[in-house]
Amino acid sequence: MKLAVFKELNDQRVSIIPASIPKLLALGVEVLVEKSAGKEAFYDDQEYKEVGAEIVERSFLLSNADVAISIHPLAEKERSLLSSSCLLVAEFQPFNQTDISQKLKETNFQALSLDMIPRTTLAQSMDVLSSMASISGYKAVLEAARLLPRYFPMMITAAGSIRPAKVLVLGAGVAGLQSIATARRLGAMVEAFDTRSAAKEEVKSLGAKFIEIEGATEDTGAGGYAVAQSEDFLKRQREEVQLRASKSDIIITTAQVRGRKAPLLVPTSTVEKMKKGSVIIDLAASTGGNCELTKNNELVNHNGVFIYGDSNLASKMPQDASQLYSTNLLNFIKLFIKEGNLQLDLENEIIKSALITKDAQ
Ligand code: NAD
Repeated sequence: MKLAVFKELNDQRVSIIPASIPKLLALGVEVLVEKSAGKEAFYDDQEYKEVGAEIVERSFLLSNADVAISIHPLAEKERSLLSSSCLLVAEFQPFNQTDISQKLKETNFQALSLDMIPRTTLAQSMDVLSSMASISGYKAVLEAARLLPRYFPMMITAAGSIRPAKVLVLGAGVAGLQSIATARRLGAMVEAFDTRSAAKEEVKSLGAKFIEIEGATEDTGAGGYAVAQSEDFLKRQREEVQLRASKSDIIITTAQVRGRKAPLLVPTSTVEKMKKGSVIIDLAASTGGNCELTKNNELVNHNGVFIYGDSNLASKMPQDASQLYSTNLLNFIKLFIKEGNLQLDLENEIIKSALITKDAQ
């Protein structure tokens, strides 16, 4: 069985790094890696070869893959060059790409979507979303520090004292909590909010203040994810955010609701209340953004306030991001490749959740 590792086209990461190759070979498969797949993440072809992978051209991968592995799904045109018995493994995002399962089923592909692996303790070692969100949360603070024309920590100098920066984090999931921890390490004063009450203790344990806003809707049946809020709640939340935004130097927004447009938490009127030189980093940019002025992958300067939207900041730290991705993926692959054979056990909850083509003919 040939496991094919594709080079990402618009991302510096690679899904499998050389250190994982011997463990994959031990599962009884051959590993083919596209030429220069790891180059932008600082893993050379030579390193892959030394541990037993074969380096090949993309066209060879497309015509020989039994399992096609990538972070971003292959384009439809390339998919058509694969054998339909090839198993596809990637982040298909069926909640946002609502027709993807149907399209794959029509072409008889089986596909495992990495973003559908359940967020449970059992699947923690395979959870690429958490690994990448954590990096994004860390990088968001570093991007903010790069753009901010001020210090993060309090500074007492012979030329006078500088007060610490104030950071407001909206959405305290995996990315938000890492942003809080990173901003605290840099010496900022941090406050945060999340609609999930479970986030309160986590925020406080990181030394940040939790903002109380009454009346959030929660659903224990949503797999730990947040649910959409009423318009009344969102209005009150925007008012509370506006009060705090005018005193904040940085806002990091990470609020997402699965399968929906990101909630609008920072309207233009709030941005206009912020001090010049303040920074907003919007990690929800790819689903519409939490800030009204966010443009995905662009830096906007609105009357001296910088707004940077990027939902894929993990790609900007490609070496460690690829290492974590590769380890998560290896743990997942071990579930369905045994002694060189594909075994998609639908009794297994993790496989069942990730297989987005279950009822394919
Ligand atoms: P996410 O990226 O879907 O959303 C980010 C955060 O935004 C969430 O914390 C969400 O509650 C919050 N949010 C949504 N609407 C909001 C609003 N209007 N205002 C403020 N915040 C809002 O979330 P995620 O980081 O991927 O985490 C999703 C869930 O999965 C969390 O409950 C997390 O604790 C859980 N999780 C569990 C495990 C595990 O048990 N192994 C691992 C990872 C994540």
